[in-house]
Amino acid sequence: MNQLVDSFQRVHTNLRISVTDRCNIRCFYCMPAENVVFMQKSHLLTFEEIERTVRIAVSLGVNKIRLTGGEPLVRQDLHKLIGKLSHIEGIQDLGLTTNGILLAEQARQLHDAGLSRLNISLDALDPKLFREVTRRDGYENVIAGIEAAQQVGFERIKINAVSVRNLTESQIVPFGHFSRESNVEIRFIEFMPLDADNAWEREKVLFAHEIIKTLSEEIMPLIPTDEDSPESPATGFQFADGVGRIGFISSVSQPFCMSCNRFRLTADGKLRNCLFSLEEADIKSLLRGDGTDAEIRQAMLDSIAAKKEGHEINTARFIQPDRPMYSIGG
Ligand code: SAM
Ligand code: SF4
Repeated sequence: MNQLVDSFQRVHTNLRISVTDRCNIRCFYCMPAENVVFMQKSHLLTFEEIERTVRIAVSLGVNKIRLTGGEPLVRQDLHKLIGKLSHIEGIQDLGLTTNGILLAEQARQLHDAGLSRLNISLDALDPKLFREVTRRDGYENVIAGIEAAQQVGFERIKINAVSVRNLTESQIVPFGHFSRESNVEIRFIEFMPLDADNAWEREKVLFAHEIIKTLSEEIMPLIPTDEDSPESPATGFQFADGVGRIGFISSVSQPFCMSCNRFRLTADGKLRNCLFSLEEADIKSLLRGDGTDAEIRQAMLDSIAAKKEGHEINTARFIQPDRPMYSIGG
């Protein structure tokens, strides 16, 4: 079997698929506050087009799929796509990343359709701060979504919190207690330069080591776990008494590019070999223009083969991609 290998011998088995660029909130680190121009609906890949692309990716060794967006739960009938993908032989892990606003009403359908893993984004446990980050109300919906997801049987739910200096500090200890009380893992993700407002600066990133220090001093020491796979971007910890898990995605302070095995399909059918790519491969044109499976397979192989060594966030050479996070699919 051909594999998706790049020139640094990284084998790509993890595909993240954006199903829409639309969203029901407006996180400042991702979207502009106003006047967002969304993709035309006719440009979004259909469920059938996504399924075909996934089957081809699986034939090249992909075994892990995550649906994302924009907000994936605003895409109508998402559970039907999950039903299609969960039947594809070779997929070992089918996950979803959501802001949780619509989760309470969809959790049962998603679970029954075969979704295996759920990450829920929540940056603050204080409703006022939640509103400041998201420029919308909805904190209670997210909490209800987390509870509903646990009730219908999702296990090992992860909460993603973007770590931003002068914002996240007050939430560190509450999140530490939350992980201990509610049996969810909190994963702090360092703020990356993918915001639509282009306001990112390195000084605005609250680094993982600072959060580890606070949690260790204010709650109890954190002990590294070796549960995350070597390709996982997250470094996992648990509190010394074994209760409560905390993970860190230190994309800025400790880039993990050399073990990256991910690539992405945007909602409008472009393949990106890195979050920070400046180039894309146009899969939609092949899907809609009589491209054969062999041609799509070759486009994937070529895209991965061209992957650069890593992002250059920490250098003067860094160029922020034109697409912000909501349009790529985080
Ligand atoms: N709307 C869904 C959500 O928020 O979970 C899925 C899409 S969102 C783009 C995926 C993840 O990317 C979320 O956990 C979000 O917090 C994260 N994210 C968005 N912009 C980011 C940024 N500039 N830096 C770091 N993480 C970011
Ligand atoms: Fe929407 Fe997710 Fe972006 Fe927040 S991070 S604006 S929830 S797409």
